[in-house]
Amino acid sequence: MLFTHDVELSLLAATMLVNTLPDASPSGEDELTTMEQLDRWFEREGFTGDRLHTRTELDSLRVLRLRLRALWGAESDEEVVSAVNAMLDEGGALPRLVNHDALGWHIHANTPDAPLADRVMVEIAMAWVDVLRQGERARMKRCAADDCEAVLVDFSRNRSKRFCDVGNCGNRMNVRAFRARNAAS
Ligand SMILES: [Zn+2]
Ligand SMILES: [Zn+2]
Repeated sequence: MLFTHDVELSLLAATMLVNTLPDASPSGEDELTTMEQLDRWFEREGFTGDRLHTRTELDSLRVLRLRLRALWGAESDEEVVSAVNAMLDEGGALPRLVNHDALGWHIHANTPDAPLADRVMVEIAMAWVDVLRQGERARMKRCAADDCEAVLVDFSRNRSKRFCDVGNCGNRMNVRAFRARNAAS
């Protein structure tokens, strides 16, 4: 097992949030502009705790996704470490063991009434703690398609995943390479 299940889920939730950005989303549109979109993401990714359903709450998540994307774009472990530590600090992280939704024992580092963006930020920062501790930052990839800015987590055994799942980029690039080869021959 590479990461614990809850860490995998947190990392995937982070990619789903980052990949709502217009240059990363399957539609090419900003996919986090309405409360309904935020609600769907929240439900689908299994987040818990209080919700305000306000514009401020939505905006804070819109800002957070940019900050999370920077983790994928970092040049060094040290750069990620200082960003992750800042997130834990700002989010008032105070780890405690919890169990809900049959996830087994895992860590929450905020109370359920902390602002949503703080809870999400801290949860994802905690997942990145594991990524760093296990020396697996190379698995946190950006899509190899030249026209796609989506992020992904490569859980494959041999770290061979190159393309995101959102935009069908693997197929798209294969078709393009095939056409280029045909045109050349
Ligand atoms: Zn939880
Ligand atoms: Zn892609």
